[in-house]
Amino acid sequence: MSPAPKVIGVVGAGTMGNGIAHVAARAGLGVILHDVAPGALERGLQAIRNNLDREASKGKIPEADKSAILSRISGAADAGALAGADFIVEAVVEDFAVKALVFEMLDRIARPGVILASNTSSISITRIGSRTARPGSVIGMHFMNPVPVMALVEIVRGAATTDDTAAVTERLATAMGKTPVSVNDFPGFVSNRVLMPMINEAVFCVMEGVGSAEAVDTVMRLGMHHPMGPLALADLIGLDVCLQILNVLHQELGDPKYRPCPLLRKMVDAGRLGRKTGKGFYEY
Ligand code: NAD
Repeated sequence: MSPAPKVIGVVGAGTMGNGIAHVAARAGLGVILHDVAPGALERGLQAIRNNLDREASKGKIPEADKSAILSRISGAADAGALAGADFIVEAVVEDFAVKALVFEMLDRIARPGVILASNTSSISITRIGSRTARPGSVIGMHFMNPVPVMALVEIVRGAATTDDTAAVTERLATAMGKTPVSVNDFPGFVSNRVLMPMINEAVFCVMEGVGSAEAVDTVMRLGMHHPMGPLALADLIGLDVCLQILNVLHQELGDPKYRPCPLLRKMVDAGRLGRKTGKGFYEY
């Protein structure tokens, strides 16, 4: 098997990217965190500082480790810095056109043999990999939100992904303190194929007046033992992200059962995206 990566490149410093950088550095790996949007890197690094403070105050990490963890993360506004990475995880917006450009760029910048992983929630790994000259080294590494807390990483093998790429990626996920589960490339993989129709149905219940958001969430929490209701979870994920994933399921699988609820579209159009904008099904 190829040697274990020591320096991880992370592309995108948003919700997921800063979480991935956090868990990699906490596991003792070096991290190069890259983002293109003005202010995004600083916001991502600040989120990591805040989350490390919270972990230290809860006794999950020793207070004394915080500065060493932070010192392992370097922010890079220039994508060229990713040439120093042994393994790269992409966590930019859920839009194939954007990801295709990012993978073409990463294929040029990354050293030969470096694995390029995508944290996509629903886009085909096979299609992303075909935009590079190294499709065997392209794989899905689907972390869950919030990354520092959630145990699962869904490892998604594209049609061309090699056994070596899958083995190195699974071992890396384990080294980052996560439990990898291997699945095959199909729209939404397992996690969002099952989760998003439930969230969508919960939104239909609100739109059709079956129950309020609170009622729907309380039924699912107390009746089905879900730790949080589907609408509170949608607010956490981001309603725009949920809509993008449902659009992919609908288009790629061609089954009307995945059609996004009109209320979800309307809320995204209104900028009510959930926690990140302070308003979604709930106010924050
Ligand atoms: P986000 O909007 O919080 O962050 C995306 C970041 O990518 C932004 O900081 C943006 O500036 C940056 N970016 C955009 N284009 C870029 C480019 N060309 N180069 C470098 N940086 C660029 O989004 P997020 O919620 O972190 O989602 C990122 C990915 O993770 C998506 O594919 C999403 O589907 C997936 N995902 C999200 C969740 C979730 O709950 N939010 C869970 C699992 C997977």
